[in-house]
Amino acid sequence: MIARLNSPDYDRWAAQIHRTGGCRQPIHLRGKVDHYDRATGQLLHRYTTRTEPEGVLRVPCKTRRASRCPSCAEVYRADTYHLIRAGLIGGKGVPNTVTSHPTLFVTLTAPSFGTVHAHREQGGKALPCHPRRDAETCPHGRVMSCTTKHNADDARLGEPLCPDCYDHTGSVLFNALAPLLWKRFADSLRRHLAKRGVLALKDLRHHLTVSFAKVAEYQRRGVVHFHAVIRLDGPGGPTESPPTWATADTLTQAVRHAARVVSALVPAIDDQPARLFKWGTQLDIRPITVDGDLTEQAVAGYVAKYATKAAECVGTLDRRINPLDNLDAFNLRDHARRLITECLRLGAIDDLADLRLTQWAHMLGFRGHFSTRSRHYGPTLGDLRAAREHHARDHDVTTGRLPLFDDDTVLVISEWTYAGKGHSAGDLLLVAALTRNSPGAAHER
Ligand SMILES: [Zn+2]
Ligand SMILES: [Zn+2]
Ligand SMILES: [Zn+2]
Repeated sequence: MIARLNSPDYDRWAAQIHRTGGCRQPIHLRGKVDHYDRATGQLLHRYTTRTEPEGVLRVPCKTRRASRCPSCAEVYRADTYHLIRAGLIGGKGVPNTVTSHPTLFVTLTAPSFGTVHAHREQGGKALPCHPRRDAETCPHGRVMSCTTKHNADDARLGEPLCPDCYDHTGSVLFNALAPLLWKRFADSLRRHLAKRGVLALKDLRHHLTVSFAKVAEYQRRGVVHFHAVIRLDGPGGPTESPPTWATADTLTQAVRHAARVVSALVPAIDDQPARLFKWGTQLDIRPITVDGDLTEQAVAGYVAKYATKAAECVGTLDRRINPLDNLDAFNLRDHARRLITECLRLGAIDDLADLRLTQWAHMLGFRGHFSTRSRHYGPTLGDLRAAREHHARDHDVTTGRLPLFDDDTVLVISEWTYAGKGHSAGDLLLVAALTRNSPGAAHER
């Protein structure tokens, strides 16, 4: 810290840190950008990192994971919030007439793989977890009852009452199949809507677009479930109204039907019978309205919050696991360790190779995207980032880093190489002090 504070290029370093918004693990780039006049070949301007502190430019890691970099995750969260909200009330290129389109907030859950400790409450009072007066004793000699009133932050939440009875195999296979189950759900939804409109499926898109924005959430027990905004648009997307027959009621019925009927099969392997996976019976469907129970702000906030969380919130690791790693060294909780072990075991079975369970063991089998939107939902993360980079570029021009030339007449040749990542321990403390109250401050839009 002292060396950094006393170094002659401290101000330039601090400026880089502000520009990364306090990123905890910035990427270091070494290189140069040359601007040539297209007509004459004359070098107009050169930016090189040679004059930067340590000869590198630090750029934000842009992770969405709060466990890796809180400030970049905060930028991602805020972006997601604005994207979801624009799809609900308009803005950022979406007309505000979109508020009249039927829109639901749907939660698709995973089925049960065994009884787990749970936080229950009624009227703000904690209730016993799983009280059973005549509880059975399981084959492992454990009484299947728990009268503890768990706090919301109890470390045992989500852990099985009997780890030996719990279906770890089912849990990780469900996670692995969840993206397929979602795809089948979306297909079934479209088929059902086509039927309601007395249309052939292939003609549906000339009348109606089903727009989605969804986010995966890990429950404490280590299975994913999905929260989705589902909106009906006209054929051109949010700018056009859906046909009059496509009401919120029609959509509700179609969602209920699709959630019930779709399934995904894992064929019999080795010692195990074939398994058919379906969504859990807990299905939540709520209309999103500007003035009702469930507002667009609440939904956007909810989706954005989950977009920055991942499996590490249930006690696993936030990076890949090598099958040769000694799992004991990671200090995992028993439930997460068993789920990871099951991924590694199933991952070694040839018939299940497509599920890539070894590569996704740290995600407890889930290899899908955390937050996705269909093409017509609204603006994309790329749109927002491009707008911000444009803003940042204008800023660069004013501070003299990039010359202000007409793009058509200038040839830009850039050369970048990766030169490392992160901060020293001393720098990390300075970064925290410099950017404490301004997560993502450099990314204002
Ligand atoms: Zn970062
Ligand atoms: Zn309990
Ligand atoms: Zn048992």
